[in-house]
Amino acid sequence: MRPIDLASRSGVALRRAFQTQQLRQAAGSRQYSNITSLPPTYEKLHSKYTEVRRVLGAQRLTLAEKILYSHLDNVEESLLNNTNNGRDIRGKANLKLKPDRVNMQDASAQMALLQFMSCNLPQTAIPASIHCDHLIVGSKGADDDLQAGIQTNHEVFDFLESAAKKYGLDFWAPGAGIIHQTVLENYAIPGLMMLGTDSHSPNAGGLSTITIGVGGADAVEALVGAPWELKAPKVLGVRLTGKLSNWASPKDLILHLAGLLTVRGGTGYIVEYSGPGVETLSCTGMATICNMGAEIGATTSIFPYTEASARYLEATRREQAVKNAAAFQNFPGAGASEDAYFRFKADEGAQYDELIEIDLSKLEPHINGPHTPDLSTPLSQFKSTVQEQKWPEKLSAGLIGSCTNSSYEDMTRVESIVRAAEEAGLKPKADFYVTPGSEQIRATLERDGTLQTFEKAGGIVLSNACGPCIGQWKRQDGVEKGTVNAILTSYNRNFRGRNDGNLDTMNFLASPEIVTAMAYAGSTTFNPVTDSLTTPDGKEFKFPAPHGLEGPKTPFDIGKDVFKVASQPPNPNEKVAISPTSERLALLEPFEPFPNSDLSGLKVLVKVSGKCTTDTISAAGPWLKYKGHLPNISANTLNTAVNAETGEVNVAYDLDGSKHTIPELAKLWKERNQPWLVVAEHNYGEGSAREHAALQPRYLGARIIVCKSFARIHETNLKKQGVVPLTLANEQDYDKIAAGDEVATVGLYDMLQNGGQGEVQLKVTKKGTGEEFWVPVKHQVSKDQAGFILAGSALNLLSKSASV
Ligand code: SF4
Repeated sequence: MRPIDLASRSGVALRRAFQTQQLRQAAGSRQYSNITSLPPTYEKLHSKYTEVRRVLGAQRLTLAEKILYSHLDNVEESLLNNTNNGRDIRGKANLKLKPDRVNMQDASAQMALLQFMSCNLPQTAIPASIHCDHLIVGSKGADDDLQAGIQTNHEVFDFLESAAKKYGLDFWAPGAGIIHQTVLENYAIPGLMMLGTDSHSPNAGGLSTITIGVGGADAVEALVGAPWELKAPKVLGVRLTGKLSNWASPKDLILHLAGLLTVRGGTGYIVEYSGPGVETLSCTGMATICNMGAEIGATTSIFPYTEASARYLEATRREQAVKNAAAFQNFPGAGASEDAYFRFKADEGAQYDELIEIDLSKLEPHINGPHTPDLSTPLSQFKSTVQEQKWPEKLSAGLIGSCTNSSYEDMTRVESIVRAAEEAGLKPKADFYVTPGSEQIRATLERDGTLQTFEKAGGIVLSNACGPCIGQWKRQDGVEKGTVNAILTSYNRNFRGRNDGNLDTMNFLASPEIVTAMAYAGSTTFNPVTDSLTTPDGKEFKFPAPHGLEGPKTPFDIGKDVFKVASQPPNPNEKVAISPTSERLALLEPFEPFPNSDLSGLKVLVKVSGKCTTDTISAAGPWLKYKGHLPNISANTLNTAVNAETGEVNVAYDLDGSKHTIPELAKLWKERNQPWLVVAEHNYGEGSAREHAALQPRYLGARIIVCKSFARIHETNLKKQGVVPLTLANEQDYDKIAAGDEVATVGLYDMLQNGGQGEVQLKVTKKGTGEEFWVPVKHQVSKDQAGFILAGSALNLLSKSASV
């Protein structure tokens, strides 16, 4: 079998892999005896890794560091600058990375591709794929929903498909699956570094990759072959012992961790799992845990490569990847020092910045929510918490699956309890929805009878797409907006309005098994571990503890042909499909560069209070359809933000006191050429890696955002779009600034010109009184980012260098 480079299944790199392989075979180098006998991805990885070892000497490295640092463009420059000669890299070094590939979902791919098109290049520098998953509304069931979704969104799908053809990208059509599941099944192999234009991209860390969720502008940097910059993350170790049992599942581990660490606890960290407990987890279970690392704000999460990882690769028909991984880990062979080997695990003695120990044997199921993924309650205390908090006791719907939890193991564990309930004559009392993560998992579950079991029980199988997880859900149960109600999902995120656009829906997160059992009870106070249900013939029924299979007994079924990937070499003659009259797609106009001076005359558009997530700044749901049309989508900007001064949602006041929605006022000010800023509280921009949350304010005239703290991805996204993120040096200054106040920056222009070095202050002039005061602010602008801001956006800079 040939050691083909599995980093790419698409045209150019695939052909290159074949050519390299042919050359090797011609040379007779069939043994893994020298570096050129490794597949190209691993050749490159090993050669960089050797440099990393040379630069860092005997330092013990975590797995995350090994993979990350072995993807540096210039190892020495990144690891030795500003790092105390390599001894103090984490949190200090600016890593300039060359990822192996980029994965994009349809909603974010639109803007990424529109930006890539501005660079006028004939093809992408590295392999990439597009996954049509976010735009299908879940309603009646897979077939109807998919047809309706294709009809409604054909313009966008045509655009994406034509761009894939033109630039040589892999294209996964609507219904083929959700990005993270598809990536895990097809592209993830140990040691890769990938970027994904979606915050749950770290899902692939379950297969020992470093995969980071980014905005489209970051993706474009990688796609044009420019290095992608990241402040070296710290490493948070989670050491697992014991083994999960009974109702506890991998989901419960991450739900529990989210409770411990909160939505901000992982910020600036890679979470790396280790310990004997790791060996007891399935590969897909590890992916679930990594997927939800986004909920604690982690840069990404990663597990070591285990026997379960190899079994998953085999089940997904990637036997060659298993052989390649084994060959790589055994390279360079007898006689080499231990440090010459790249093992897919941490070095013995590697240090973590923080270490948490969890005994899996003691873990009980958890339920997290409502409205935030870190409000974690152990199942045994959930009933009393529901009653104390006066949360609804009626459960309206249970939804399982999605990119987070639709593995064979998840679904067969659910199947075991559904079968038991069916035999007892029970049906779910709440609506019960199932979302397979991909065509491959759907077809396999159908082949093995699992889906039929769900349907027989009354479950509605939705299409292989995001659907209700991203607000694409047409509820069938008559629950109107404004009605307080409770739903349980096995998804990963539960901000207000996330699933059905109803701010009063309380969304709780749990494992698929717990969601399903509680859907049978139709109650949020039911504890399947201890409580019983009454069967139609009056008997007591207690659910057995769930059991399932890690993977199918025979390899996964590939599914229907129509959902197979379209891989193609770039075709320069392909015309990218964008109608000039489209309401959904619009070519981008470059943003104007930074002025040759500090900013002055800015006005505070609104001061927001509480959580201000990327959903708050750029809502999803019905707005997803405008992702490729910046002017149109900007009409949702901050439309669920709370005005700190009045407590009103989506209300802002013009300088003359007239009342507007926030986006209306922003648009008015844009028309008046009135630049503005927003003042906000902590973790501004947490949540999805949604670059629209940076693009839209920029398009409408925002020049700076001032807050108590930022979420990492969003802070970077702002800088890439030319908006300057500043944090208050003294948090109490938040109280002093109000809407309508005038703000000028002092030191900002110098700081930008000095490559991010220097201090910045704000001079605030109060509206009405004219009183002036100074507000010291902090920034995290690197040299490259200073260049982006000065150019007006990262894209302005990239397109300039691409055209040179
Ligand atoms: Fe889709 Fe939800 Fe997964 Fe995001 S988290 S990729 S919306 S299923």
